[in-house]
Amino acid sequence: MLDVAVVGMGLIGSAALRHAAVGGASAVGIGPPEPSDWPAHQGPFASHYDSGRITRRLDARREWAVLATRAIEQYPTIADQSGIEFHRPCGLAFVRDDEPGLANLASVAASIGLPIDVGPVAEALADVPALSFPDRYTAVREAPPAGAIDPRLMIEAQHRAAKRAGALVARDTVIAIRPADGGYELLTAAGRTHQARQVLIAAGAYANRLLPEPLAMSVRPEAVLLAEVADGDLGRLGSMPSIIYLLDHDELDDVYVVPPMRYPDGRHYVKIGGSNRRAAVLGDEPAMNQWMQQDHADGRLPPLREVLTALLPDVALSGWTTKPCLIGDTASGLPYIDRLDNGCTVAFGGNGHAAKSADAIGSLAAELALNDRWDDDELDRTAFIARLGVHQPSAGSRHGN
Ligand SMILES: Cc1cc2nc3c(=O)[nH]c(=O)nc-3n(C[C@H](O)[C@H](O)[C@H](O)COP(=O)(O)OP(=O)(O)OC[C@H]3O[C@@H](n4cnc5c(N)ncnc54)[C@H](O)[C@@H]3O)c2cc1C
Repeated sequence: MLDVAVVGMGLIGSAALRHAAVGGASAVGIGPPEPSDWPAHQGPFASHYDSGRITRRLDARREWAVLATRAIEQYPTIADQSGIEFHRPCGLAFVRDDEPGLANLASVAASIGLPIDVGPVAEALADVPALSFPDRYTAVREAPPAGAIDPRLMIEAQHRAAKRAGALVARDTVIAIRPADGGYELLTAAGRTHQARQVLIAAGAYANRLLPEPLAMSVRPEAVLLAEVADGDLGRLGSMPSIIYLLDHDELDDVYVVPPMRYPDGRHYVKIGGSNRRAAVLGDEPAMNQWMQQDHADGRLPPLREVLTALLPDVALSGWTTKPCLIGDTASGLPYIDRLDNGCTVAFGGNGHAAKSADAIGSLAAELALNDRWDDDELDRTAFIARLGVHQPSAGSRHGN
């Protein structure tokens, strides 16, 4: 029997698997790969099927800032242990015009010792003349290592490092977990059985399916827009940071923009996403699968395209493509990292923020699963406890407050 089985080979589960294996535990990670044919795939899907995610320490919530700080410190180790580079330290600009929000960002930054530059947006982003914002905004700039990560490459890196430390990765889906011989038996869709003393459930938006009682998590349909950048323009955007922008807009509460990244098709795309007020919670798994299988995301294209072209007025953008995604929001606004009454450990509920911090969340979860320990003088365990029930997401920007 293995020490631990990690269910879900997404960003958090893959990190937990590496920490468990590097820490000397015998471990298996079980999770399906990214589907090649989304319309035909019957689920589960994931929230990391992309080549760009913003990474930053600057945050409106101290817990997220601390998690990100720890995870970012681990990026070089993960790259060394795997030989895979996934981090692009291009910096960050957080653009908004509300004094209370700016003050809160500054106070959280001060509480973690993070230096920031704050100034009128035109001045603060003078080094990227291709960018255009209304003058009334203020930009808070965070220097590298803030910037962007490639979540697909990060997962590959975590898996390679975990395997080098002796872990197994099974590309399969867990359909049932039951107690057996002092541990657990995990049955998979391919008809296999895995046995482990501990189980860590890191199945993202689909995690509740595996629990005796659902935890309070709502799942929102998100969409991003990719726009291809002509080679001739890549140089002009070379110093472009990742951007979070709390704009004044009829439909969007905020947008986030990842500078041009190279995608698997070899082209460079700038990516924009945003909190759309029209996004209604997806009630169940069939609704989540339908959102991911079909091209409903196209309906989100116009406002995102309008904002991106206004931000980059003189850059030739083409090949506009939308991609659906899923955001799991918890009642606490933080991931659930906890042990349930049935002895299983959970680590899920990214709230749209966990890609950059997944390694730190995975580390806390692995320690809890293997040793039932939470030795942390910076993060209060009670902030991450699992909450039962139904969650109704609050309105407004999830980046702002
Ligand atoms: C459009 C969009 C933009 C985002 N931008 C950012 C950003 O800029 N910065 C940032 O930090 N975060 C961002 N996020 C959030 C981030 O991507 C998520 O918080 C993160 O992916 C959550 O990680 P996870 O491991 O919990 O879930 P996932 O990465 O979704 O992984 C869960 C895995 O579990 C698998 N699984 C599910 N059920 C089972 C089962 N029964 N058996 C086995 N495996 C199973 C799934 O297939 C999946 O592979 C964004 C999210 C979206 C949707």
